Amino acid sequence: ETAVSQFIQTVEQAPMAISITDTDANILYVNPWFCQTTGYGLQEVKGLNHSILSYRTTPAEVYQGLWNQLKKGRSWQGRLINRRKNGERYLADVIVTPLTDGEGETTHFLGIHRDVTETH
Ligand code: FAD
Repeated sequence: ETAVSQFIQTVEQAPMAISITDTDANILYVNPWFCQTTGYGLQEVKGLNHSILSYRTTPAEVYQGLWNQLKKGRSWQGRLINRRKNGERYLADVIVTPLTDGEGETTHFLGIHRDVTETH
């Protein structure tokens, strides 16, 4: 078994919603836990902006704070009010972090989130 197949197995089976976007937050990949949490399938969510998950009630300043951190090349961690495909609202504990190339340039963003509605 190669390291690459182990990495794929890990991401595919991780019990966290994982997403990879381009630098404009357009979704390139999501793992099965993401699909389970949000109700979106991989094929239908690919190419959509990550803002598809916004319930539109989180204050704009929170998103500005998120983007300010990302633009500085830093991770952001916080809670966002998210919306599933079926319209249901959930509270998400979110980590967003820039993925960089060898020169330190941001090439993608990685999102990791989980539904904490129950534990809140
Ligand atoms: P936006 O149009 O996104 O604007 C909100 C603010 O962010 C504005 O100040 C705008 O200037 C700034 N901004 C937006 N895009 C950029 C950019 N490319 N570069 C610099 N500044 C920018 N949002 C959620 O609601 N739930 C999530 O679970 C979630 N997960 C995310 C995961 C990843 C990996 C990334 C990259 C983003 C995630 N976001 C998430 C944020 C999402 O992309 C949106 O910014 C957010 O949902 C607000 O959307 P909006 O259309 O209301 O506002």
